[in-house]
Amino acid sequence: MGALDGAAVELPRPKVFLETFGCQMNFLDSELVRGRLAARRCDFTQRRDEADVVAFNTCAVRDHAEERVRARLHELKRVKQRRPDVIVAVLGCMAQREGEALLRKFPHVDLLCGTREFGRIDELLDQVRRDGRPVVALGESDPLPDGRRDLSQRPRRFSAFVTIQRGCDRACTFCVVPKTRGPEVERSMDEIEAEVRALVADGVVEVTLLGQIVNAYGRKSGGDASLARLLRRLDRVNGLKRLRFITSFPTLLTPDLMQAMRDCESVVSYLHLPVQSGANSCLKRMARGYTADAYLRLVDRLREVVPGVELATDLIVGFSGESDLEFQATVELVRRVEFVQAFIFKYSERPGTAAANRLADDVPLAVKERRNHELLAVQEEIQLRRNRARIGQVDLVLVEGASARNAALLAGRTSDNRIVHFAGSPELAGRLQPVRIRDATALSHSGELVERG
Ligand code: SAM
Repeated sequence: MGALDGAAVELPRPKVFLETFGCQMNFLDSELVRGRLAARRCDFTQRRDEADVVAFNTCAVRDHAEERVRARLHELKRVKQRRPDVIVAVLGCMAQREGEALLRKFPHVDLLCGTREFGRIDELLDQVRRDGRPVVALGESDPLPDGRRDLSQRPRRFSAFVTIQRGCDRACTFCVVPKTRGPEVERSMDEIEAEVRALVADGVVEVTLLGQIVNAYGRKSGGDASLARLLRRLDRVNGLKRLRFITSFPTLLTPDLMQAMRDCESVVSYLHLPVQSGANSCLKRMARGYTADAYLRLVDRLREVVPGVELATDLIVGFSGESDLEFQATVELVRRVEFVQAFIFKYSERPGTAAANRLADDVPLAVKERRNHELLAVQEEIQLRRNRARIGQVDLVLVEGASARNAALLAGRTSDNRIVHFAGSPELAGRLQPVRIRDATALSHSGELVERG
């Protein structure tokens, strides 16, 4: 394997295989990691069997995500026996959550890099190579590495993520994120705007602002920073056609933010607002800090202020103690709101969370599965009905490129995040195009380009 530290003797450049699990923030973290390693003369490969460094950027939100990484690490035991020089690295949330216990379970792991150490991944890899011993970095040396991002590493040409805030100060009882990602930290509005301007100058037309609780932005820095102000500033960036932000917390959805959504042309008419449950008793055990009624009132208010806005949500089924009645309250809320998308999860107990410490994970797996299917079916029926109601309408679609479903077609998204497939030239990628909706399933639409007059 080649030198990572630019030694005098030119050895072959190390090939890195990096696999990412979990949320958008993890994908952005992987982009940061690639940038650091590319600057350190690493190459990247899609083939794990030819890699000198195998790295997993992990997720700890549910056990299933961790299980997939554990399976990969088991496989690598055999690889390491054949090729002891291969470096195995576990990055991100699972490394942070498990700590050195992970090294005891998988002694062939060479590097643990926590969620606030990504910015020095290059040095950490050097250290593994130099010392030949496992390296554990789970501190807070670099909680906001975003300012040193290498924009050329972004995976998509026209669309980019931008971190505005990391970490989470909330204490939802089911959630491991505050433990794995630490307290909230924020970038300045100036730094964010400079990054967005640089991205737009490099061809990006759609930016998604990321934060664990993206609408908490501003409360840490004090001063005049807020998500609403930031949206208004970024809306003035010439060439930025679409501005998204995920994920918002209900109690922090201020009138000011709603008005910014209404006023800013580039801000999409879509809000991801996780509700988690429709039962007050369950919301209380989750320590969400709102009732189902308060959530519904917020939705009504938002729909008044921002006509046509669509809502997406996250829901957990089978949370500790969830009764049939509580679950039915969730079904009712879903029917009432008619979300454009709902991400439905079976509760997965996470060690170290308040729920794991205080509440029993007492809903049997079969019941969680049944509720999951039932809620999915309700949501699917809503999506199909509402998507079919769009047939005949013309939507402005941001063209993303060839459709993953059928390479002969293009795929794009409406402002409210619906997927549309249609025929057209690949050169339209990155442009906003009017498309007439001709057909719909629960998951997507098909349509045809409308010639601009
Ligand atoms: N920070 C964001 C928030 O609070 O809305 C998103 C956090 S998490 C990465 C995304 C979703 O995973 C949550 O909204 C929740 O629905 C789900 N989730 C979190 N912890 C979970 C758990 N222990 N079991 C099942 N789903 C969980």
